[in-house]
Amino acid sequence: MSLLRILTDRITAMGPITLADYMSEALLHPTHGYYTTRDPLGAGGDFTTAPEISQMFGELIGLSLAQSWLDQGAPPAFTLAELGPGRGTLMADILRATARVPGFHDAMQIALIEASPKLREVQATALKDLAPQWLDSVHALPEQPLYLVANEFFDALPVHQYQRDGDRWRERMVGADGDRLHMGLGPATLQPALAHRLEDTGQDDIVEVCPGATPITDTISSRIRDHGGAALIIDYGDWRSLGDTLQAVKDHETTDPLADPGTADLTTHVDFEALTQAARCAFTRITPQGVFLERLGITQRAQALAQTLRGGPLDAHVAAHRRLTHPAEMGNLFKVLGLYPTGATPPPGLEP
Ligand code: SAH
Repeated sequence: MSLLRILTDRITAMGPITLADYMSEALLHPTHGYYTTRDPLGAGGDFTTAPEISQMFGELIGLSLAQSWLDQGAPPAFTLAELGPGRGTLMADILRATARVPGFHDAMQIALIEASPKLREVQATALKDLAPQWLDSVHALPEQPLYLVANEFFDALPVHQYQRDGDRWRERMVGADGDRLHMGLGPATLQPALAHRLEDTGQDDIVEVCPGATPITDTISSRIRDHGGAALIIDYGDWRSLGDTLQAVKDHETTDPLADPGTADLTTHVDFEALTQAARCAFTRITPQGVFLERLGITQRAQALAQTLRGGPLDAHVAAHRRLTHPAEMGNLFKVLGLYPTGATPPPGLEP
């Protein structure tokens, strides 16, 4: 039975479900979820991400984290963690770039937080010589300094959407009509947690709330506050989210998010303000990915790599550099937020 059928049957029997419940079923249903059943980034996959575009992305992230580790006195035991590691490419590039930082590899313990059994297998192959450990949640991160990266992880967490109605809010719900799903509106209710959004919204505006992001940010920032470390959170979105940003992508094209659950990637823009509200340590301003990578020297690195390339591979390399940094491509849409201990130097690339 398809996930569409499972959900239409359930909704017909029990009533509409929230968008967050719908996203969580579509992405992580144990047998039909999008991430549970496939490697969306592999050959013939549905979308691509910065580490899959060029090795330079992970190399520069690695050097930023390693410099931050040096700046904090090179603690002799720390966790190097990634949230949602995909194919393991970003972690592999971080490790190659940091291999020559004295002491860094001896001190690290690699922890991967990954919900998909399928992608855990791909990561195990990519990182087979490095003995990574998989954790079920950030709560299991050891009580020691934490250096963490999350690229396109928070955008995959389920959100609720609320539409303004006077000074109340109606939740957008997923209903069923025969064998099709559609969006509808729940009853108008007071939402004390959205009081601050009455200031910057008008009638019928939609706001998104991601309840899963808060405990994750709270936990990683508590480790950093208590033991030191740094986190680099990279995603598309802005300081505050406004409007319906839900997007479904299949075969590199956008598609209807409700048409065939479990067969398309679903994401929303990350609300970075909400992440910082849960932060228990210092945080940087959000910095456009292009600016961050330029500050870390991506142009010099690109020139060095170009020396060995000719013809098609050289053209692809030049295009990859542009794609990661140019404001009209990923350079502006993607933002980087750094978390670090109060009083410490921010991670390189995120200087005020
Ligand atoms: N960071 C990778 C992959 C991004 S895709 C890259 O940049 O290429 C999103 C990743 O997050 C996938 O690995 C997906 O399986 C994982 N993921 C999504 N929701 C998750 C959740 N709730 N808990 C843990 N991992 C999750």
